Amino acid sequence: MAIQAVSVGKGRAGCLFPPVGALAGTAATDWLGIFAQHSHRRNQRDAGQALIRQVGLKSACGLFDNMERNMSPVTIIGGGPAGLMAAERLVQAGVAVDVYDAMPSLGRKFLLAGVGGLNITHAEPFEAFVSRYGARAGVIRPLLEKFSPDALRAWVHALGIETFVGSSGRVFPAGMKAAPLLRAWLHRLRQAGVRFHVRHRWTGWDGSGALRFATPAGERLVHAEATVLALGGASWPKLGSDGAWVPWLTARGVDLAPLVPANSGFDVAGGWSAHLRSRFAGQPLKTVALGFTDAAGRQHERRGELMVSDTGIEGGLVYAVSAALRDTIAAQGAVTVRLDLLPDWPPARVAAAVAHPRGARSLSNHLQSRLGIRGVKMALLRELLTPDELKDAAKLAQAMQSLPLLLSAPRPIAEAISSAGGIRFEALDQNLMLRDLPGVFVAGEMLDWEAPTGGYLLSACFASGYAAGQGTLAYARGE
Ligand SMILES: Cc1cc2nc3c(=O)[nH]c(=O)nc-3n(C[C@H](O)[C@H](O)[C@H](O)COP(=O)(O)OP(=O)(O)OC[C@H]3O[C@@H](n4cnc5c(N)ncnc54)[C@H](O)[C@@H]3O)c2cc1C
Repeated sequence: MAIQAVSVGKGRAGCLFPPVGALAGTAATDWLGIFAQHSHRRNQRDAGQALIRQVGLKSACGLFDNMERNMSPVTIIGGGPAGLMAAERLVQAGVAVDVYDAMPSLGRKFLLAGVGGLNITHAEPFEAFVSRYGARAGVIRPLLEKFSPDALRAWVHALGIETFVGSSGRVFPAGMKAAPLLRAWLHRLRQAGVRFHVRHRWTGWDGSGALRFATPAGERLVHAEATVLALGGASWPKLGSDGAWVPWLTARGVDLAPLVPANSGFDVAGGWSAHLRSRFAGQPLKTVALGFTDAAGRQHERRGELMVSDTGIEGGLVYAVSAALRDTIAAQGAVTVRLDLLPDWPPARVAAAVAHPRGARSLSNHLQSRLGIRGVKMALLRELLTPDELKDAAKLAQAMQSLPLLLSAPRPIAEAISSAGGIRFEALDQNLMLRDLPGVFVAGEMLDWEAPTGGYLLSACFASGYAAGQGTLAYARGE
């Protein structure tokens, strides 16, 4: 008989036993044996036999439930999407779960993600979806196969929230916000018996291997047989994930890639003039194309929308190529991107329009009436071209479709949407358990993968949380 660990009562979790109903006809000693085999604890087996003799099967299971909770709940550190999904997978299977988080409340970054519209996943075909994880597609694929974008949508629906597909294929919850989803989810987890401990900042392990937590009441030590670390990356540290875990894991021999910004903005070399910054920072450049050659000599060309920031450029179009821009800057110190301000215009038409006699009209009026160039686009031309280039019709026309911009650095990781780097997959087994730290599982953004925006970040966080929960379950069952 395959053992199935289940919750044995509403709001309670943790009896690593078969369901009582499923035991009809099964000798108590049979499943006690199964329990002992999976619990790794002879004293529990003995205690269990004594209890069954004394109080009967059903109430013994209830008592074991508490015993299992007291002795070996799974410890999950990090109450973001990855940690909560691991908690859900475990508690569904009847395993007691304690979730610890440094912040006063859970899922803060998830809530922030919902501010601009929570893009939870993407509706494109699975193969295209997997390809978004680039060099890490091979290791993310099995996670997404276990908990696919479709399964994620079904999971949202089961929380009572509809989803819709936007025109670009991005999937959003109805209302676009994260708060109703998180509220419903936390309620369901609490009902299932998950215990939450906020204001518990994990600070590593002590000499005996206990997990150390800094709490308002002082240090608390937790001895855990199975732990899921879901601490996030290092972007937006004020929301909780600050990458402080890096040295603690490095000290335990875990192989890590440095955390670096992903989906970030970039600084222009020398910064913008005071004029451009004060008048145009925050303004969008709509439907432009951005091209560059990366450090490996590959050409990148993409169109979309970006924004002039205080120090450079940011926005969807920039995020989409930010990994290649970041790596190219790391390799060669800077990278020149070329902006096409008129990507829908054939060059000959642009040249003819610019060369058209403008009479007494100013250059700005001329370009606006002939080509629709105005506002921040005109300001960029004035910022980046010399007066001679602006006067030369051929050079100006050419620059409008290939405006060079020297980018010198990505914005700091604290400002990025996400981080790249983290625990390398080579340090993990197929259940996301650290090879060198048996019983310690890892999920979410603290793993070494990256993806563009478009719902791919949350999808992989949920899927890896699910896989880590499943892996922890197998470990707890001694499989
Ligand atoms: C502005 C913004 C918008 C975004 N929008 C989207 C979007 O629309 N779609 C999308 O797919 N992705 C989006 N993302 C990315 C997405 O939110 C993250 O990838 C995701 O939240 C990561 O999940 P996680 O569970 O791995 O980590 P996190 O969500 O960062 O959660 C980690 C948790 O661990 C806790 N923690 C950290 N260190 C400790 C410690 N030492 N002790 C105890 N607890 C600790 C933190 O407090 C936190 O609660 C956005 C991100 C940002 C910043």
